[in-house]
Amino acid sequence: MLAPSGIHHVTAIASDPQRNIDFYAGVLGLRLVKRTVNFDDPTTYHFYFGDEIGRPGSLLTFFPWPNARRGRQGAGQAAVVSFGIVPSSVGFWLERLLKHGIEFEQPVTRFDGERVIALKDPDGLLLELISHQRVDQLEPVVDTGSEALVPAAHGIRGVYSVTLWQDGHQQTAELLTGSLGFKLAREQGSIFRYTSNDGSPGSIVDLRIVPGLWPGVSGAGTVHHVAFRADSIATQSRVRSDLEALGFNVTPPLDRDYFMSVYFREPGGVLFEIATDGPGFSIDEPAEALGRSLMLPPWLEPRRFEIQALLPNIHLPLNLPGPNA
Ligand code: ZN
Repeated sequence: MLAPSGIHHVTAIASDPQRNIDFYAGVLGLRLVKRTVNFDDPTTYHFYFGDEIGRPGSLLTFFPWPNARRGRQGAGQAAVVSFGIVPSSVGFWLERLLKHGIEFEQPVTRFDGERVIALKDPDGLLLELISHQRVDQLEPVVDTGSEALVPAAHGIRGVYSVTLWQDGHQQTAELLTGSLGFKLAREQGSIFRYTSNDGSPGSIVDLRIVPGLWPGVSGAGTVHHVAFRADSIATQSRVRSDLEALGFNVTPPLDRDYFMSVYFREPGGVLFEIATDGPGFSIDEPAEALGRSLMLPPWLEPRRFEIQALLPNIHLPLNLPGPNA
């Protein structure tokens, strides 16, 4: 494969780490598949939430900065992160959100019969739960037994799409359909939908044109970057060369332990990353123990004691009551 194949992960900014875990692992029932530090700021956490093994396309990750100021959604941002659920789970999710006191909007119908429940996370990040038949074809999240707070049948099936808010679409569209391997699937009003055509989680990018909207401000409750999948280092390096030839300022490949990454800013202002599918999250701890302990890259291991002392204590929301509790 020569081009990326959809979204690898989305990374956003949060404030309180425990509140972040309680919401994503507790209320939404995602699995915390890695508890590590921000490699660029090792005194703060980096949390990865995803399916049971953290497959590319299932991942939403956070930098929880306890004193982060609230950001503001606006132009030049990936403003909305949408998760896929199966159509038969809509009632379950409405009830669950109600039960946990999470504000949401009543479901509306969008493209091709998608039913969309809009909500916000505790920092104000705009989220959607989108039900659509094609989500049924995706692998169900495997029940992790006593850890599962959401029954597998109703579990979130990965990142369905992201929505970029932009002043104009031409240059970003060229990038998506050029180096990033997407195709224009449809246009509706101010929304241009691009798909990577394989139907897997994360195969949709919606570009929403918001002329005249204020620019987004980075901070808690906003997306930091969107990463696209490369199936190998060779693909990543090819895409990187493509991007450089087009005049983008691309970082050298950076070792993120669980994948290799390169970053660049797309013409509309959103930070993009190309991340390799491998080696994945079980490289440093067994699949059944993912997310239970703090994992550090080898170069930070010598500072483990100091780092642990600086990080806030957190715990998994094992005792958070679910609807069936
Ligand atoms: Zn990333």
